[in-house]
Amino acid sequence: MQYVSTRANGATASQSPQQFSDILLGGLAPDGGLYLPTEYPQVTGAELDAWRKLPYADLAFEILKKFATDIPEADLKALAHKTYTADVYRNARAGESAADITPLRVLEEGNGKKLVLQALSNGPTLAFKDMAMQLLGNLFEYALAKKDAQLNIFGATSGDTGSAAEYAMRGKKGIKVFMLSPHKKMSAFQTAQMFSLQDPNIFNIAVEGVFDDCQDMVKAVSNDLPFKAKQKIGTVNSINWARVVAQVVYYFRGYLAATTSNDEKVSFTVPSGNFGNICAGHIARMMGLPIDKLVVATNENDVLDEFFRTGVYRTRKSAETYHTSSPSMDISKASNFERFIFDLVGRDSERTRALFTKVDTHGGFDLSGYPGGDGDEFHKVKEYGFKSGKSTHEDRLATIRDVADDYGIVIDTHTADGIKVAKENLEPGVTMIVLETALAAKFNETILEALGHDAERPAGFENIEALPQRFVVMPADVDKMKDYIASNTGL
Ligand SMILES: *Cc1c(COP(=O)(O)O)cnc(C)c1O
Repeated sequence: MQYVSTRANGATASQSPQQFSDILLGGLAPDGGLYLPTEYPQVTGAELDAWRKLPYADLAFEILKKFATDIPEADLKALAHKTYTADVYRNARAGESAADITPLRVLEEGNGKKLVLQALSNGPTLAFKDMAMQLLGNLFEYALAKKDAQLNIFGATSGDTGSAAEYAMRGKKGIKVFMLSPHKKMSAFQTAQMFSLQDPNIFNIAVEGVFDDCQDMVKAVSNDLPFKAKQKIGTVNSINWARVVAQVVYYFRGYLAATTSNDEKVSFTVPSGNFGNICAGHIARMMGLPIDKLVVATNENDVLDEFFRTGVYRTRKSAETYHTSSPSMDISKASNFERFIFDLVGRDSERTRALFTKVDTHGGFDLSGYPGGDGDEFHKVKEYGFKSGKSTHEDRLATIRDVADDYGIVIDTHTADGIKVAKENLEPGVTMIVLETALAAKFNETILEALGHDAERPAGFENIEALPQRFVVMPADVDKMKDYIASNTGL
């Protein structure tokens, strides 16, 4: 299996096709595009039948080996088994089995309609990012050990990504994590989750500023190429290809667990921000998994909903990006969207490059087919199964209440956006699976507002705010940051 950038056809590329291990530790391709396989591996009905009863780790191995063809199978299998254990995904609700890794719960069934929740948030940080990040931690450690190399991960977080990265990389040989977060701007729970880690390879840096200041510092450091090379700086953001592949697995799992034969149709509704999660669903569908619809659910930041309704992709400025009660979906520009557009325009890398150059220069593009636009590919969106909808703060509160009343469980705000939009897209004869992307305890403020009581905390999280915290406070000063990194890497 070989990989090419969305902006360069293999034949004419300045860069030759890459193997899985070559792109594992990187982010963007050198030409600014995103990596995709030259073709999607196909899955047969016989394979699906054989996979229906597999434990999660074995299913992950079957899918991973189609993408990571340059890693010995025995090694991949060991990595999958090390990652997907009942102990790592232990935060399952009462009545769910932790050994299922992503347990399914039928919320409603009747009139030919069926609504199911698939829990992706039972990992160490209570959000779906653990699903991929835990595998990434093990893959990185494995790849670095082979090369006797080291990697220093440098990133900024406003919550979920940073904690998932730290819990995945803690204690890993050859890896250090430097994570910036805005000082005193994260919730007490999120802060405690990150800052209570005592592992010597984790460096929490609270920056005196807002999240954008943190991100600007990451950009400034990353743009200093000599520094980046000398300090062996890498990232783990959502465009990382291995993260996307790891996410493909739970779409297979959800489909296979919800059905008894491959003739049955299943749709997925996905709370979306950077289009990373649902991009994996698109890939699963392209591999031949019988997914009917892929429904994108957004909050008030509806860049993606607007595209899937109109064909116009219009990114927002920071000032137009709302801070909502489903904050992990507060995005103005979806970093994985280019992967889907590449497929939508027939894998034409010149068109892809032109469209995303226009995103940088003009803030977006128009594929609606209107005169003066950039193309008419919007009419093809249907062939890829995509639909969309949006949800507001009031909708979230109402949905959290309804779900508690009707089904007896408390869901988080992002999942609430998903359920709201899923209900609008239920179809007779098609099971609708909503991906649960976080547990309610992470976003307790809104649970309190909706229900008048606190969200239940999984065992072990009762008193995390009281644990000793390990972090440094620094000004938003790039030179001081570089000194801090260099003094701690010793490079
Ligand atoms: C990151 C995140 C999302 C959005 O996922 P994308 O891959 O960026 O679309 C949704 N919900 C939660 C809880 C998240 O942490």
